[in-house]
Amino acid sequence: MAGGPTIALALEGQLRLDDQPALHRALALARQRGGRLLVLACRPQAQRLRGPHQRRLEAQALAALHARLAAAGIPLLAFPQHTTAAALAELRPLVQPEAVLQAEESRLFDTWPVAAERFPLVFSPFRRGLERDPEPPLPPPDLAGLGNAWDELPRSWLAPPVAPGAGSDDRSAFPFPGDEPTALARLQHYLFGSSGLRDYKATRNGLVGTEFSAKFSPFLGVGALSVRRIWQEVLRYQALHGADEGSEWMKQELLWREFFLWSEQKHGAAFHAPGGLQQRPPDWVEDRERFVRWTRGDAGHPLVDAQLSELLATGYLSNRGRQWVASHFVNELRLPWIWGARFFEWALIDAHPALNTGNWAYLAGVGSDPRSFGGAPRRFDLERQVGLYDPERQHLRLWGRSSLEPAAPALP
Ligand SMILES: Cc1cc2nc3c(=O)[nH]c(=O)nc-3n(C[C@H](O)[C@H](O)[C@H](O)COP(=O)(O)OP(=O)(O)OC[C@H]3O[C@@H](n4cnc5c(N)ncnc54)[C@H](O)[C@@H]3O)c2cc1C
Repeated sequence: MAGGPTIALALEGQLRLDDQPALHRALALARQRGGRLLVLACRPQAQRLRGPHQRRLEAQALAALHARLAAAGIPLLAFPQHTTAAALAELRPLVQPEAVLQAEESRLFDTWPVAAERFPLVFSPFRRGLERDPEPPLPPPDLAGLGNAWDELPRSWLAPPVAPGAGSDDRSAFPFPGDEPTALARLQHYLFGSSGLRDYKATRNGLVGTEFSAKFSPFLGVGALSVRRIWQEVLRYQALHGADEGSEWMKQELLWREFFLWSEQKHGAAFHAPGGLQQRPPDWVEDRERFVRWTRGDAGHPLVDAQLSELLATGYLSNRGRQWVASHFVNELRLPWIWGARFFEWALIDAHPALNTGNWAYLAGVGSDPRSFGGAPRRFDLERQVGLYDPERQHLRLWGRSSLEPAAPALP
């Protein structure tokens, strides 16, 4: 098939076909102009610190998407370290796109859900002040008829990327590959194929296994899943089973995600500043040695060490585990919360700057925790916490230091 004008779509970290408004626009434009579509997988605009676990997931999502687009004759060129501008600079000597469209991050709302000038510092008034319902998702588009020859592109650019295998630790609470079909299958399983969503409120503070929470965040983090698709499926679940506690709580958590995304957009650099949105003066000790030991999984408390060894081995950590680690980091080790947040951004399989900073700042008492305004950060009593959330010490047995030591030889 002949060339025609090239329409380029830059995915900017959104590695899926489902609910991709920019893909629909790009396809419509290519068809309208009798042109062809080229897809670029570039990193999002904001600088992000991706560690090995998230990069593995991203490579899996990319390989699967490459195969699906290639089947329709649409090339997907991988520029994982490039911004869109840098990728276009590499491309232009070979192909000059007539138009470049950029995919947007998946959010429930297209525009401010609460007016920017009234956007609150804390979550409850945000939730109460929501001015409309989330936008519905778009279906995956029809890709037919855009297949093309791409002789001007080097073969090595068109070659399928290598999909890395699964993570090697079979204790992982997130043992899934990061591709879109797996993400959609997980969504269906959690909502309709198990009692996951129904029981979510009761189980969400769990620490071990795949089923205590939804495990959507790693897929959201690499853009393999749309948050609008999740929301719509939760509504479908509620239409079938009623608005039970589990499904209502899930909506609330998805709104927390939204709150932090829009809050970062409102406050910009201040959102990530050491003094946080409360502009607190620093109250910590810059003990580098203590911090380095912590990054190696040695925080000096067995319950926290077990959480850190799970994080280092798999990149996933339960929400409760993250809270324990961050609270201990701030209150007991008295280290600067931004150091911990930066390390999490590298280590987490679902790292997202706004969600990570928002949660760390909350726990450090400089962000959107209403209790911390004018007071101290909340402090978790770990012994009490473990009694509440892991009375059998299942997590400690799975991830505690002794679990890493070779088993003692059996006595004769
Ligand atoms: C210190 C700390 C750092 C964090 N860093 C990140 C991060 O970098 N990226 C990230 O996605 N989440 C982060 N979280 C939020 C939360 O821990 C994870 O989203 C959740 O554990 C992911 O597992 P899940 O999908 O099974 O969660 P579920 O409990 O099943 O929740 C469903 C979805 O709701 C959203 N959600 C749940 N809890 C939160 C929350 N506290 N804040 C914002 N959204 C939430 C997520 O999109 C999640 O996928 C952090 C929390 C803490 C305490």
